[in-house]
Amino acid sequence: MKILILPGDAIGPEITAVTKAALEALDFRFGLGLELVEREIGLAAFKNVGRTMPEDVMEEIRDTPTTILGPVSTMDYPPEAQGADNPSKAIRKGFDLFANIRPSKTRKGVPSMAKSMDLVIVRENTEGFYADRSMFMGNGEFMPTPDLALAVRKITAEGSNRIARAAFELARTRRKKVTAVHKGNVMRVSDGLFMREVRAVAEEFPDVELDDVIVDAMAARLIRHPETFDVVVTTNMFGDILSDEASELSGGLGLGGAINASNERAIAQAAHGSAPDIAGQNKANPTAHVMSAQMLLQWTASRSGDNELTNAAAHLEAAVDSVLADPANHTGDIGGNAGTREFGEALVKAIGE
Ligand code: ATP
Repeated sequence: MKILILPGDAIGPEITAVTKAALEALDFRFGLGLELVEREIGLAAFKNVGRTMPEDVMEEIRDTPTTILGPVSTMDYPPEAQGADNPSKAIRKGFDLFANIRPSKTRKGVPSMAKSMDLVIVRENTEGFYADRSMFMGNGEFMPTPDLALAVRKITAEGSNRIARAAFELARTRRKKVTAVHKGNVMRVSDGLFMREVRAVAEEFPDVELDDVIVDAMAARLIRHPETFDVVVTTNMFGDILSDEASELSGGLGLGGAINASNERAIAQAAHGSAPDIAGQNKANPTAHVMSAQMLLQWTASRSGDNELTNAAAHLEAAVDSVLADPANHTGDIGGNAGTREFGEALVKAIGE
């Protein structure tokens, strides 16, 4: 199985090196026949070929159902017109990866604000308030006059229906509870449509409980009672914000793995950004990136029914848990002194045990 690896910007290459070593160790142990192929994107690609998301890399992603995307420093990119596309947008919109699946859970040995939590945020990934991806042509943000800025939020029945379905299907494999988050008291039309579709899908899943919470109340409830949530489904921007909150509650941004998925393919991409403040210093926590790759293996195995891949994915998560259980392996963001490379070495060792 070919896995395309795109390291990205800032801490991207450092955390990618750990994930790559972990996949090689897993391949050695389980004989998965992985072919790991690395390609340049982001600022490195811009420097070399004048594009942050080169067309040949997009083509290769199209031909490779399993891809791991590193974090990208889009704030440092030149204007899009000069060849600096946002790679996140390019893949999410380009491959219609409508579901951003972001789990957050407390892990043994990892200091966390939450006593205990194990939830998954299922975030709509292709519409909402994301100005750069919600229009067929043009942009969802515009300035009619120098002192007036407007933003259009796109919510469709189809987009809401398919993200709700992804959430209910996931809940069926977990604790069978979906919480839909919206601002329907103010955005009556758009979030009204979102909730109409969530409720319609819920009818098809009578075994799964549905409740709904207004987004501001959710921000508070998540802090007070994170353990009460199982699967949370919401629109793009709310999901982006709440998933960072959930990640922090579970221990930190460096822990949250994630995948972007459609019904046909998934691309691993950690929930955090490129953390330029700590780039190149051997300080980044690679857990989120490794766990994103783990989710990709699990997602692929669940589609193909490959038992060995299922076992390998479970083994990788257990190895991550065992490394995190020892504070000597903790990076600075979670209160430890270990470096990115040292974490990687401990992980490779744990995979082999
Ligand atoms: P984006 O907008 O792409 O989400 P951002 O700049 O808002 O990115 P991040 O880069 O995700 O935010 O992270 C904010 C801060 O959290 C970073 O500057 C860094 O200090 C810390 N951080 C994020 N990811 C990690 C990680 N993997 N390891 C250690 N610290 C991290």
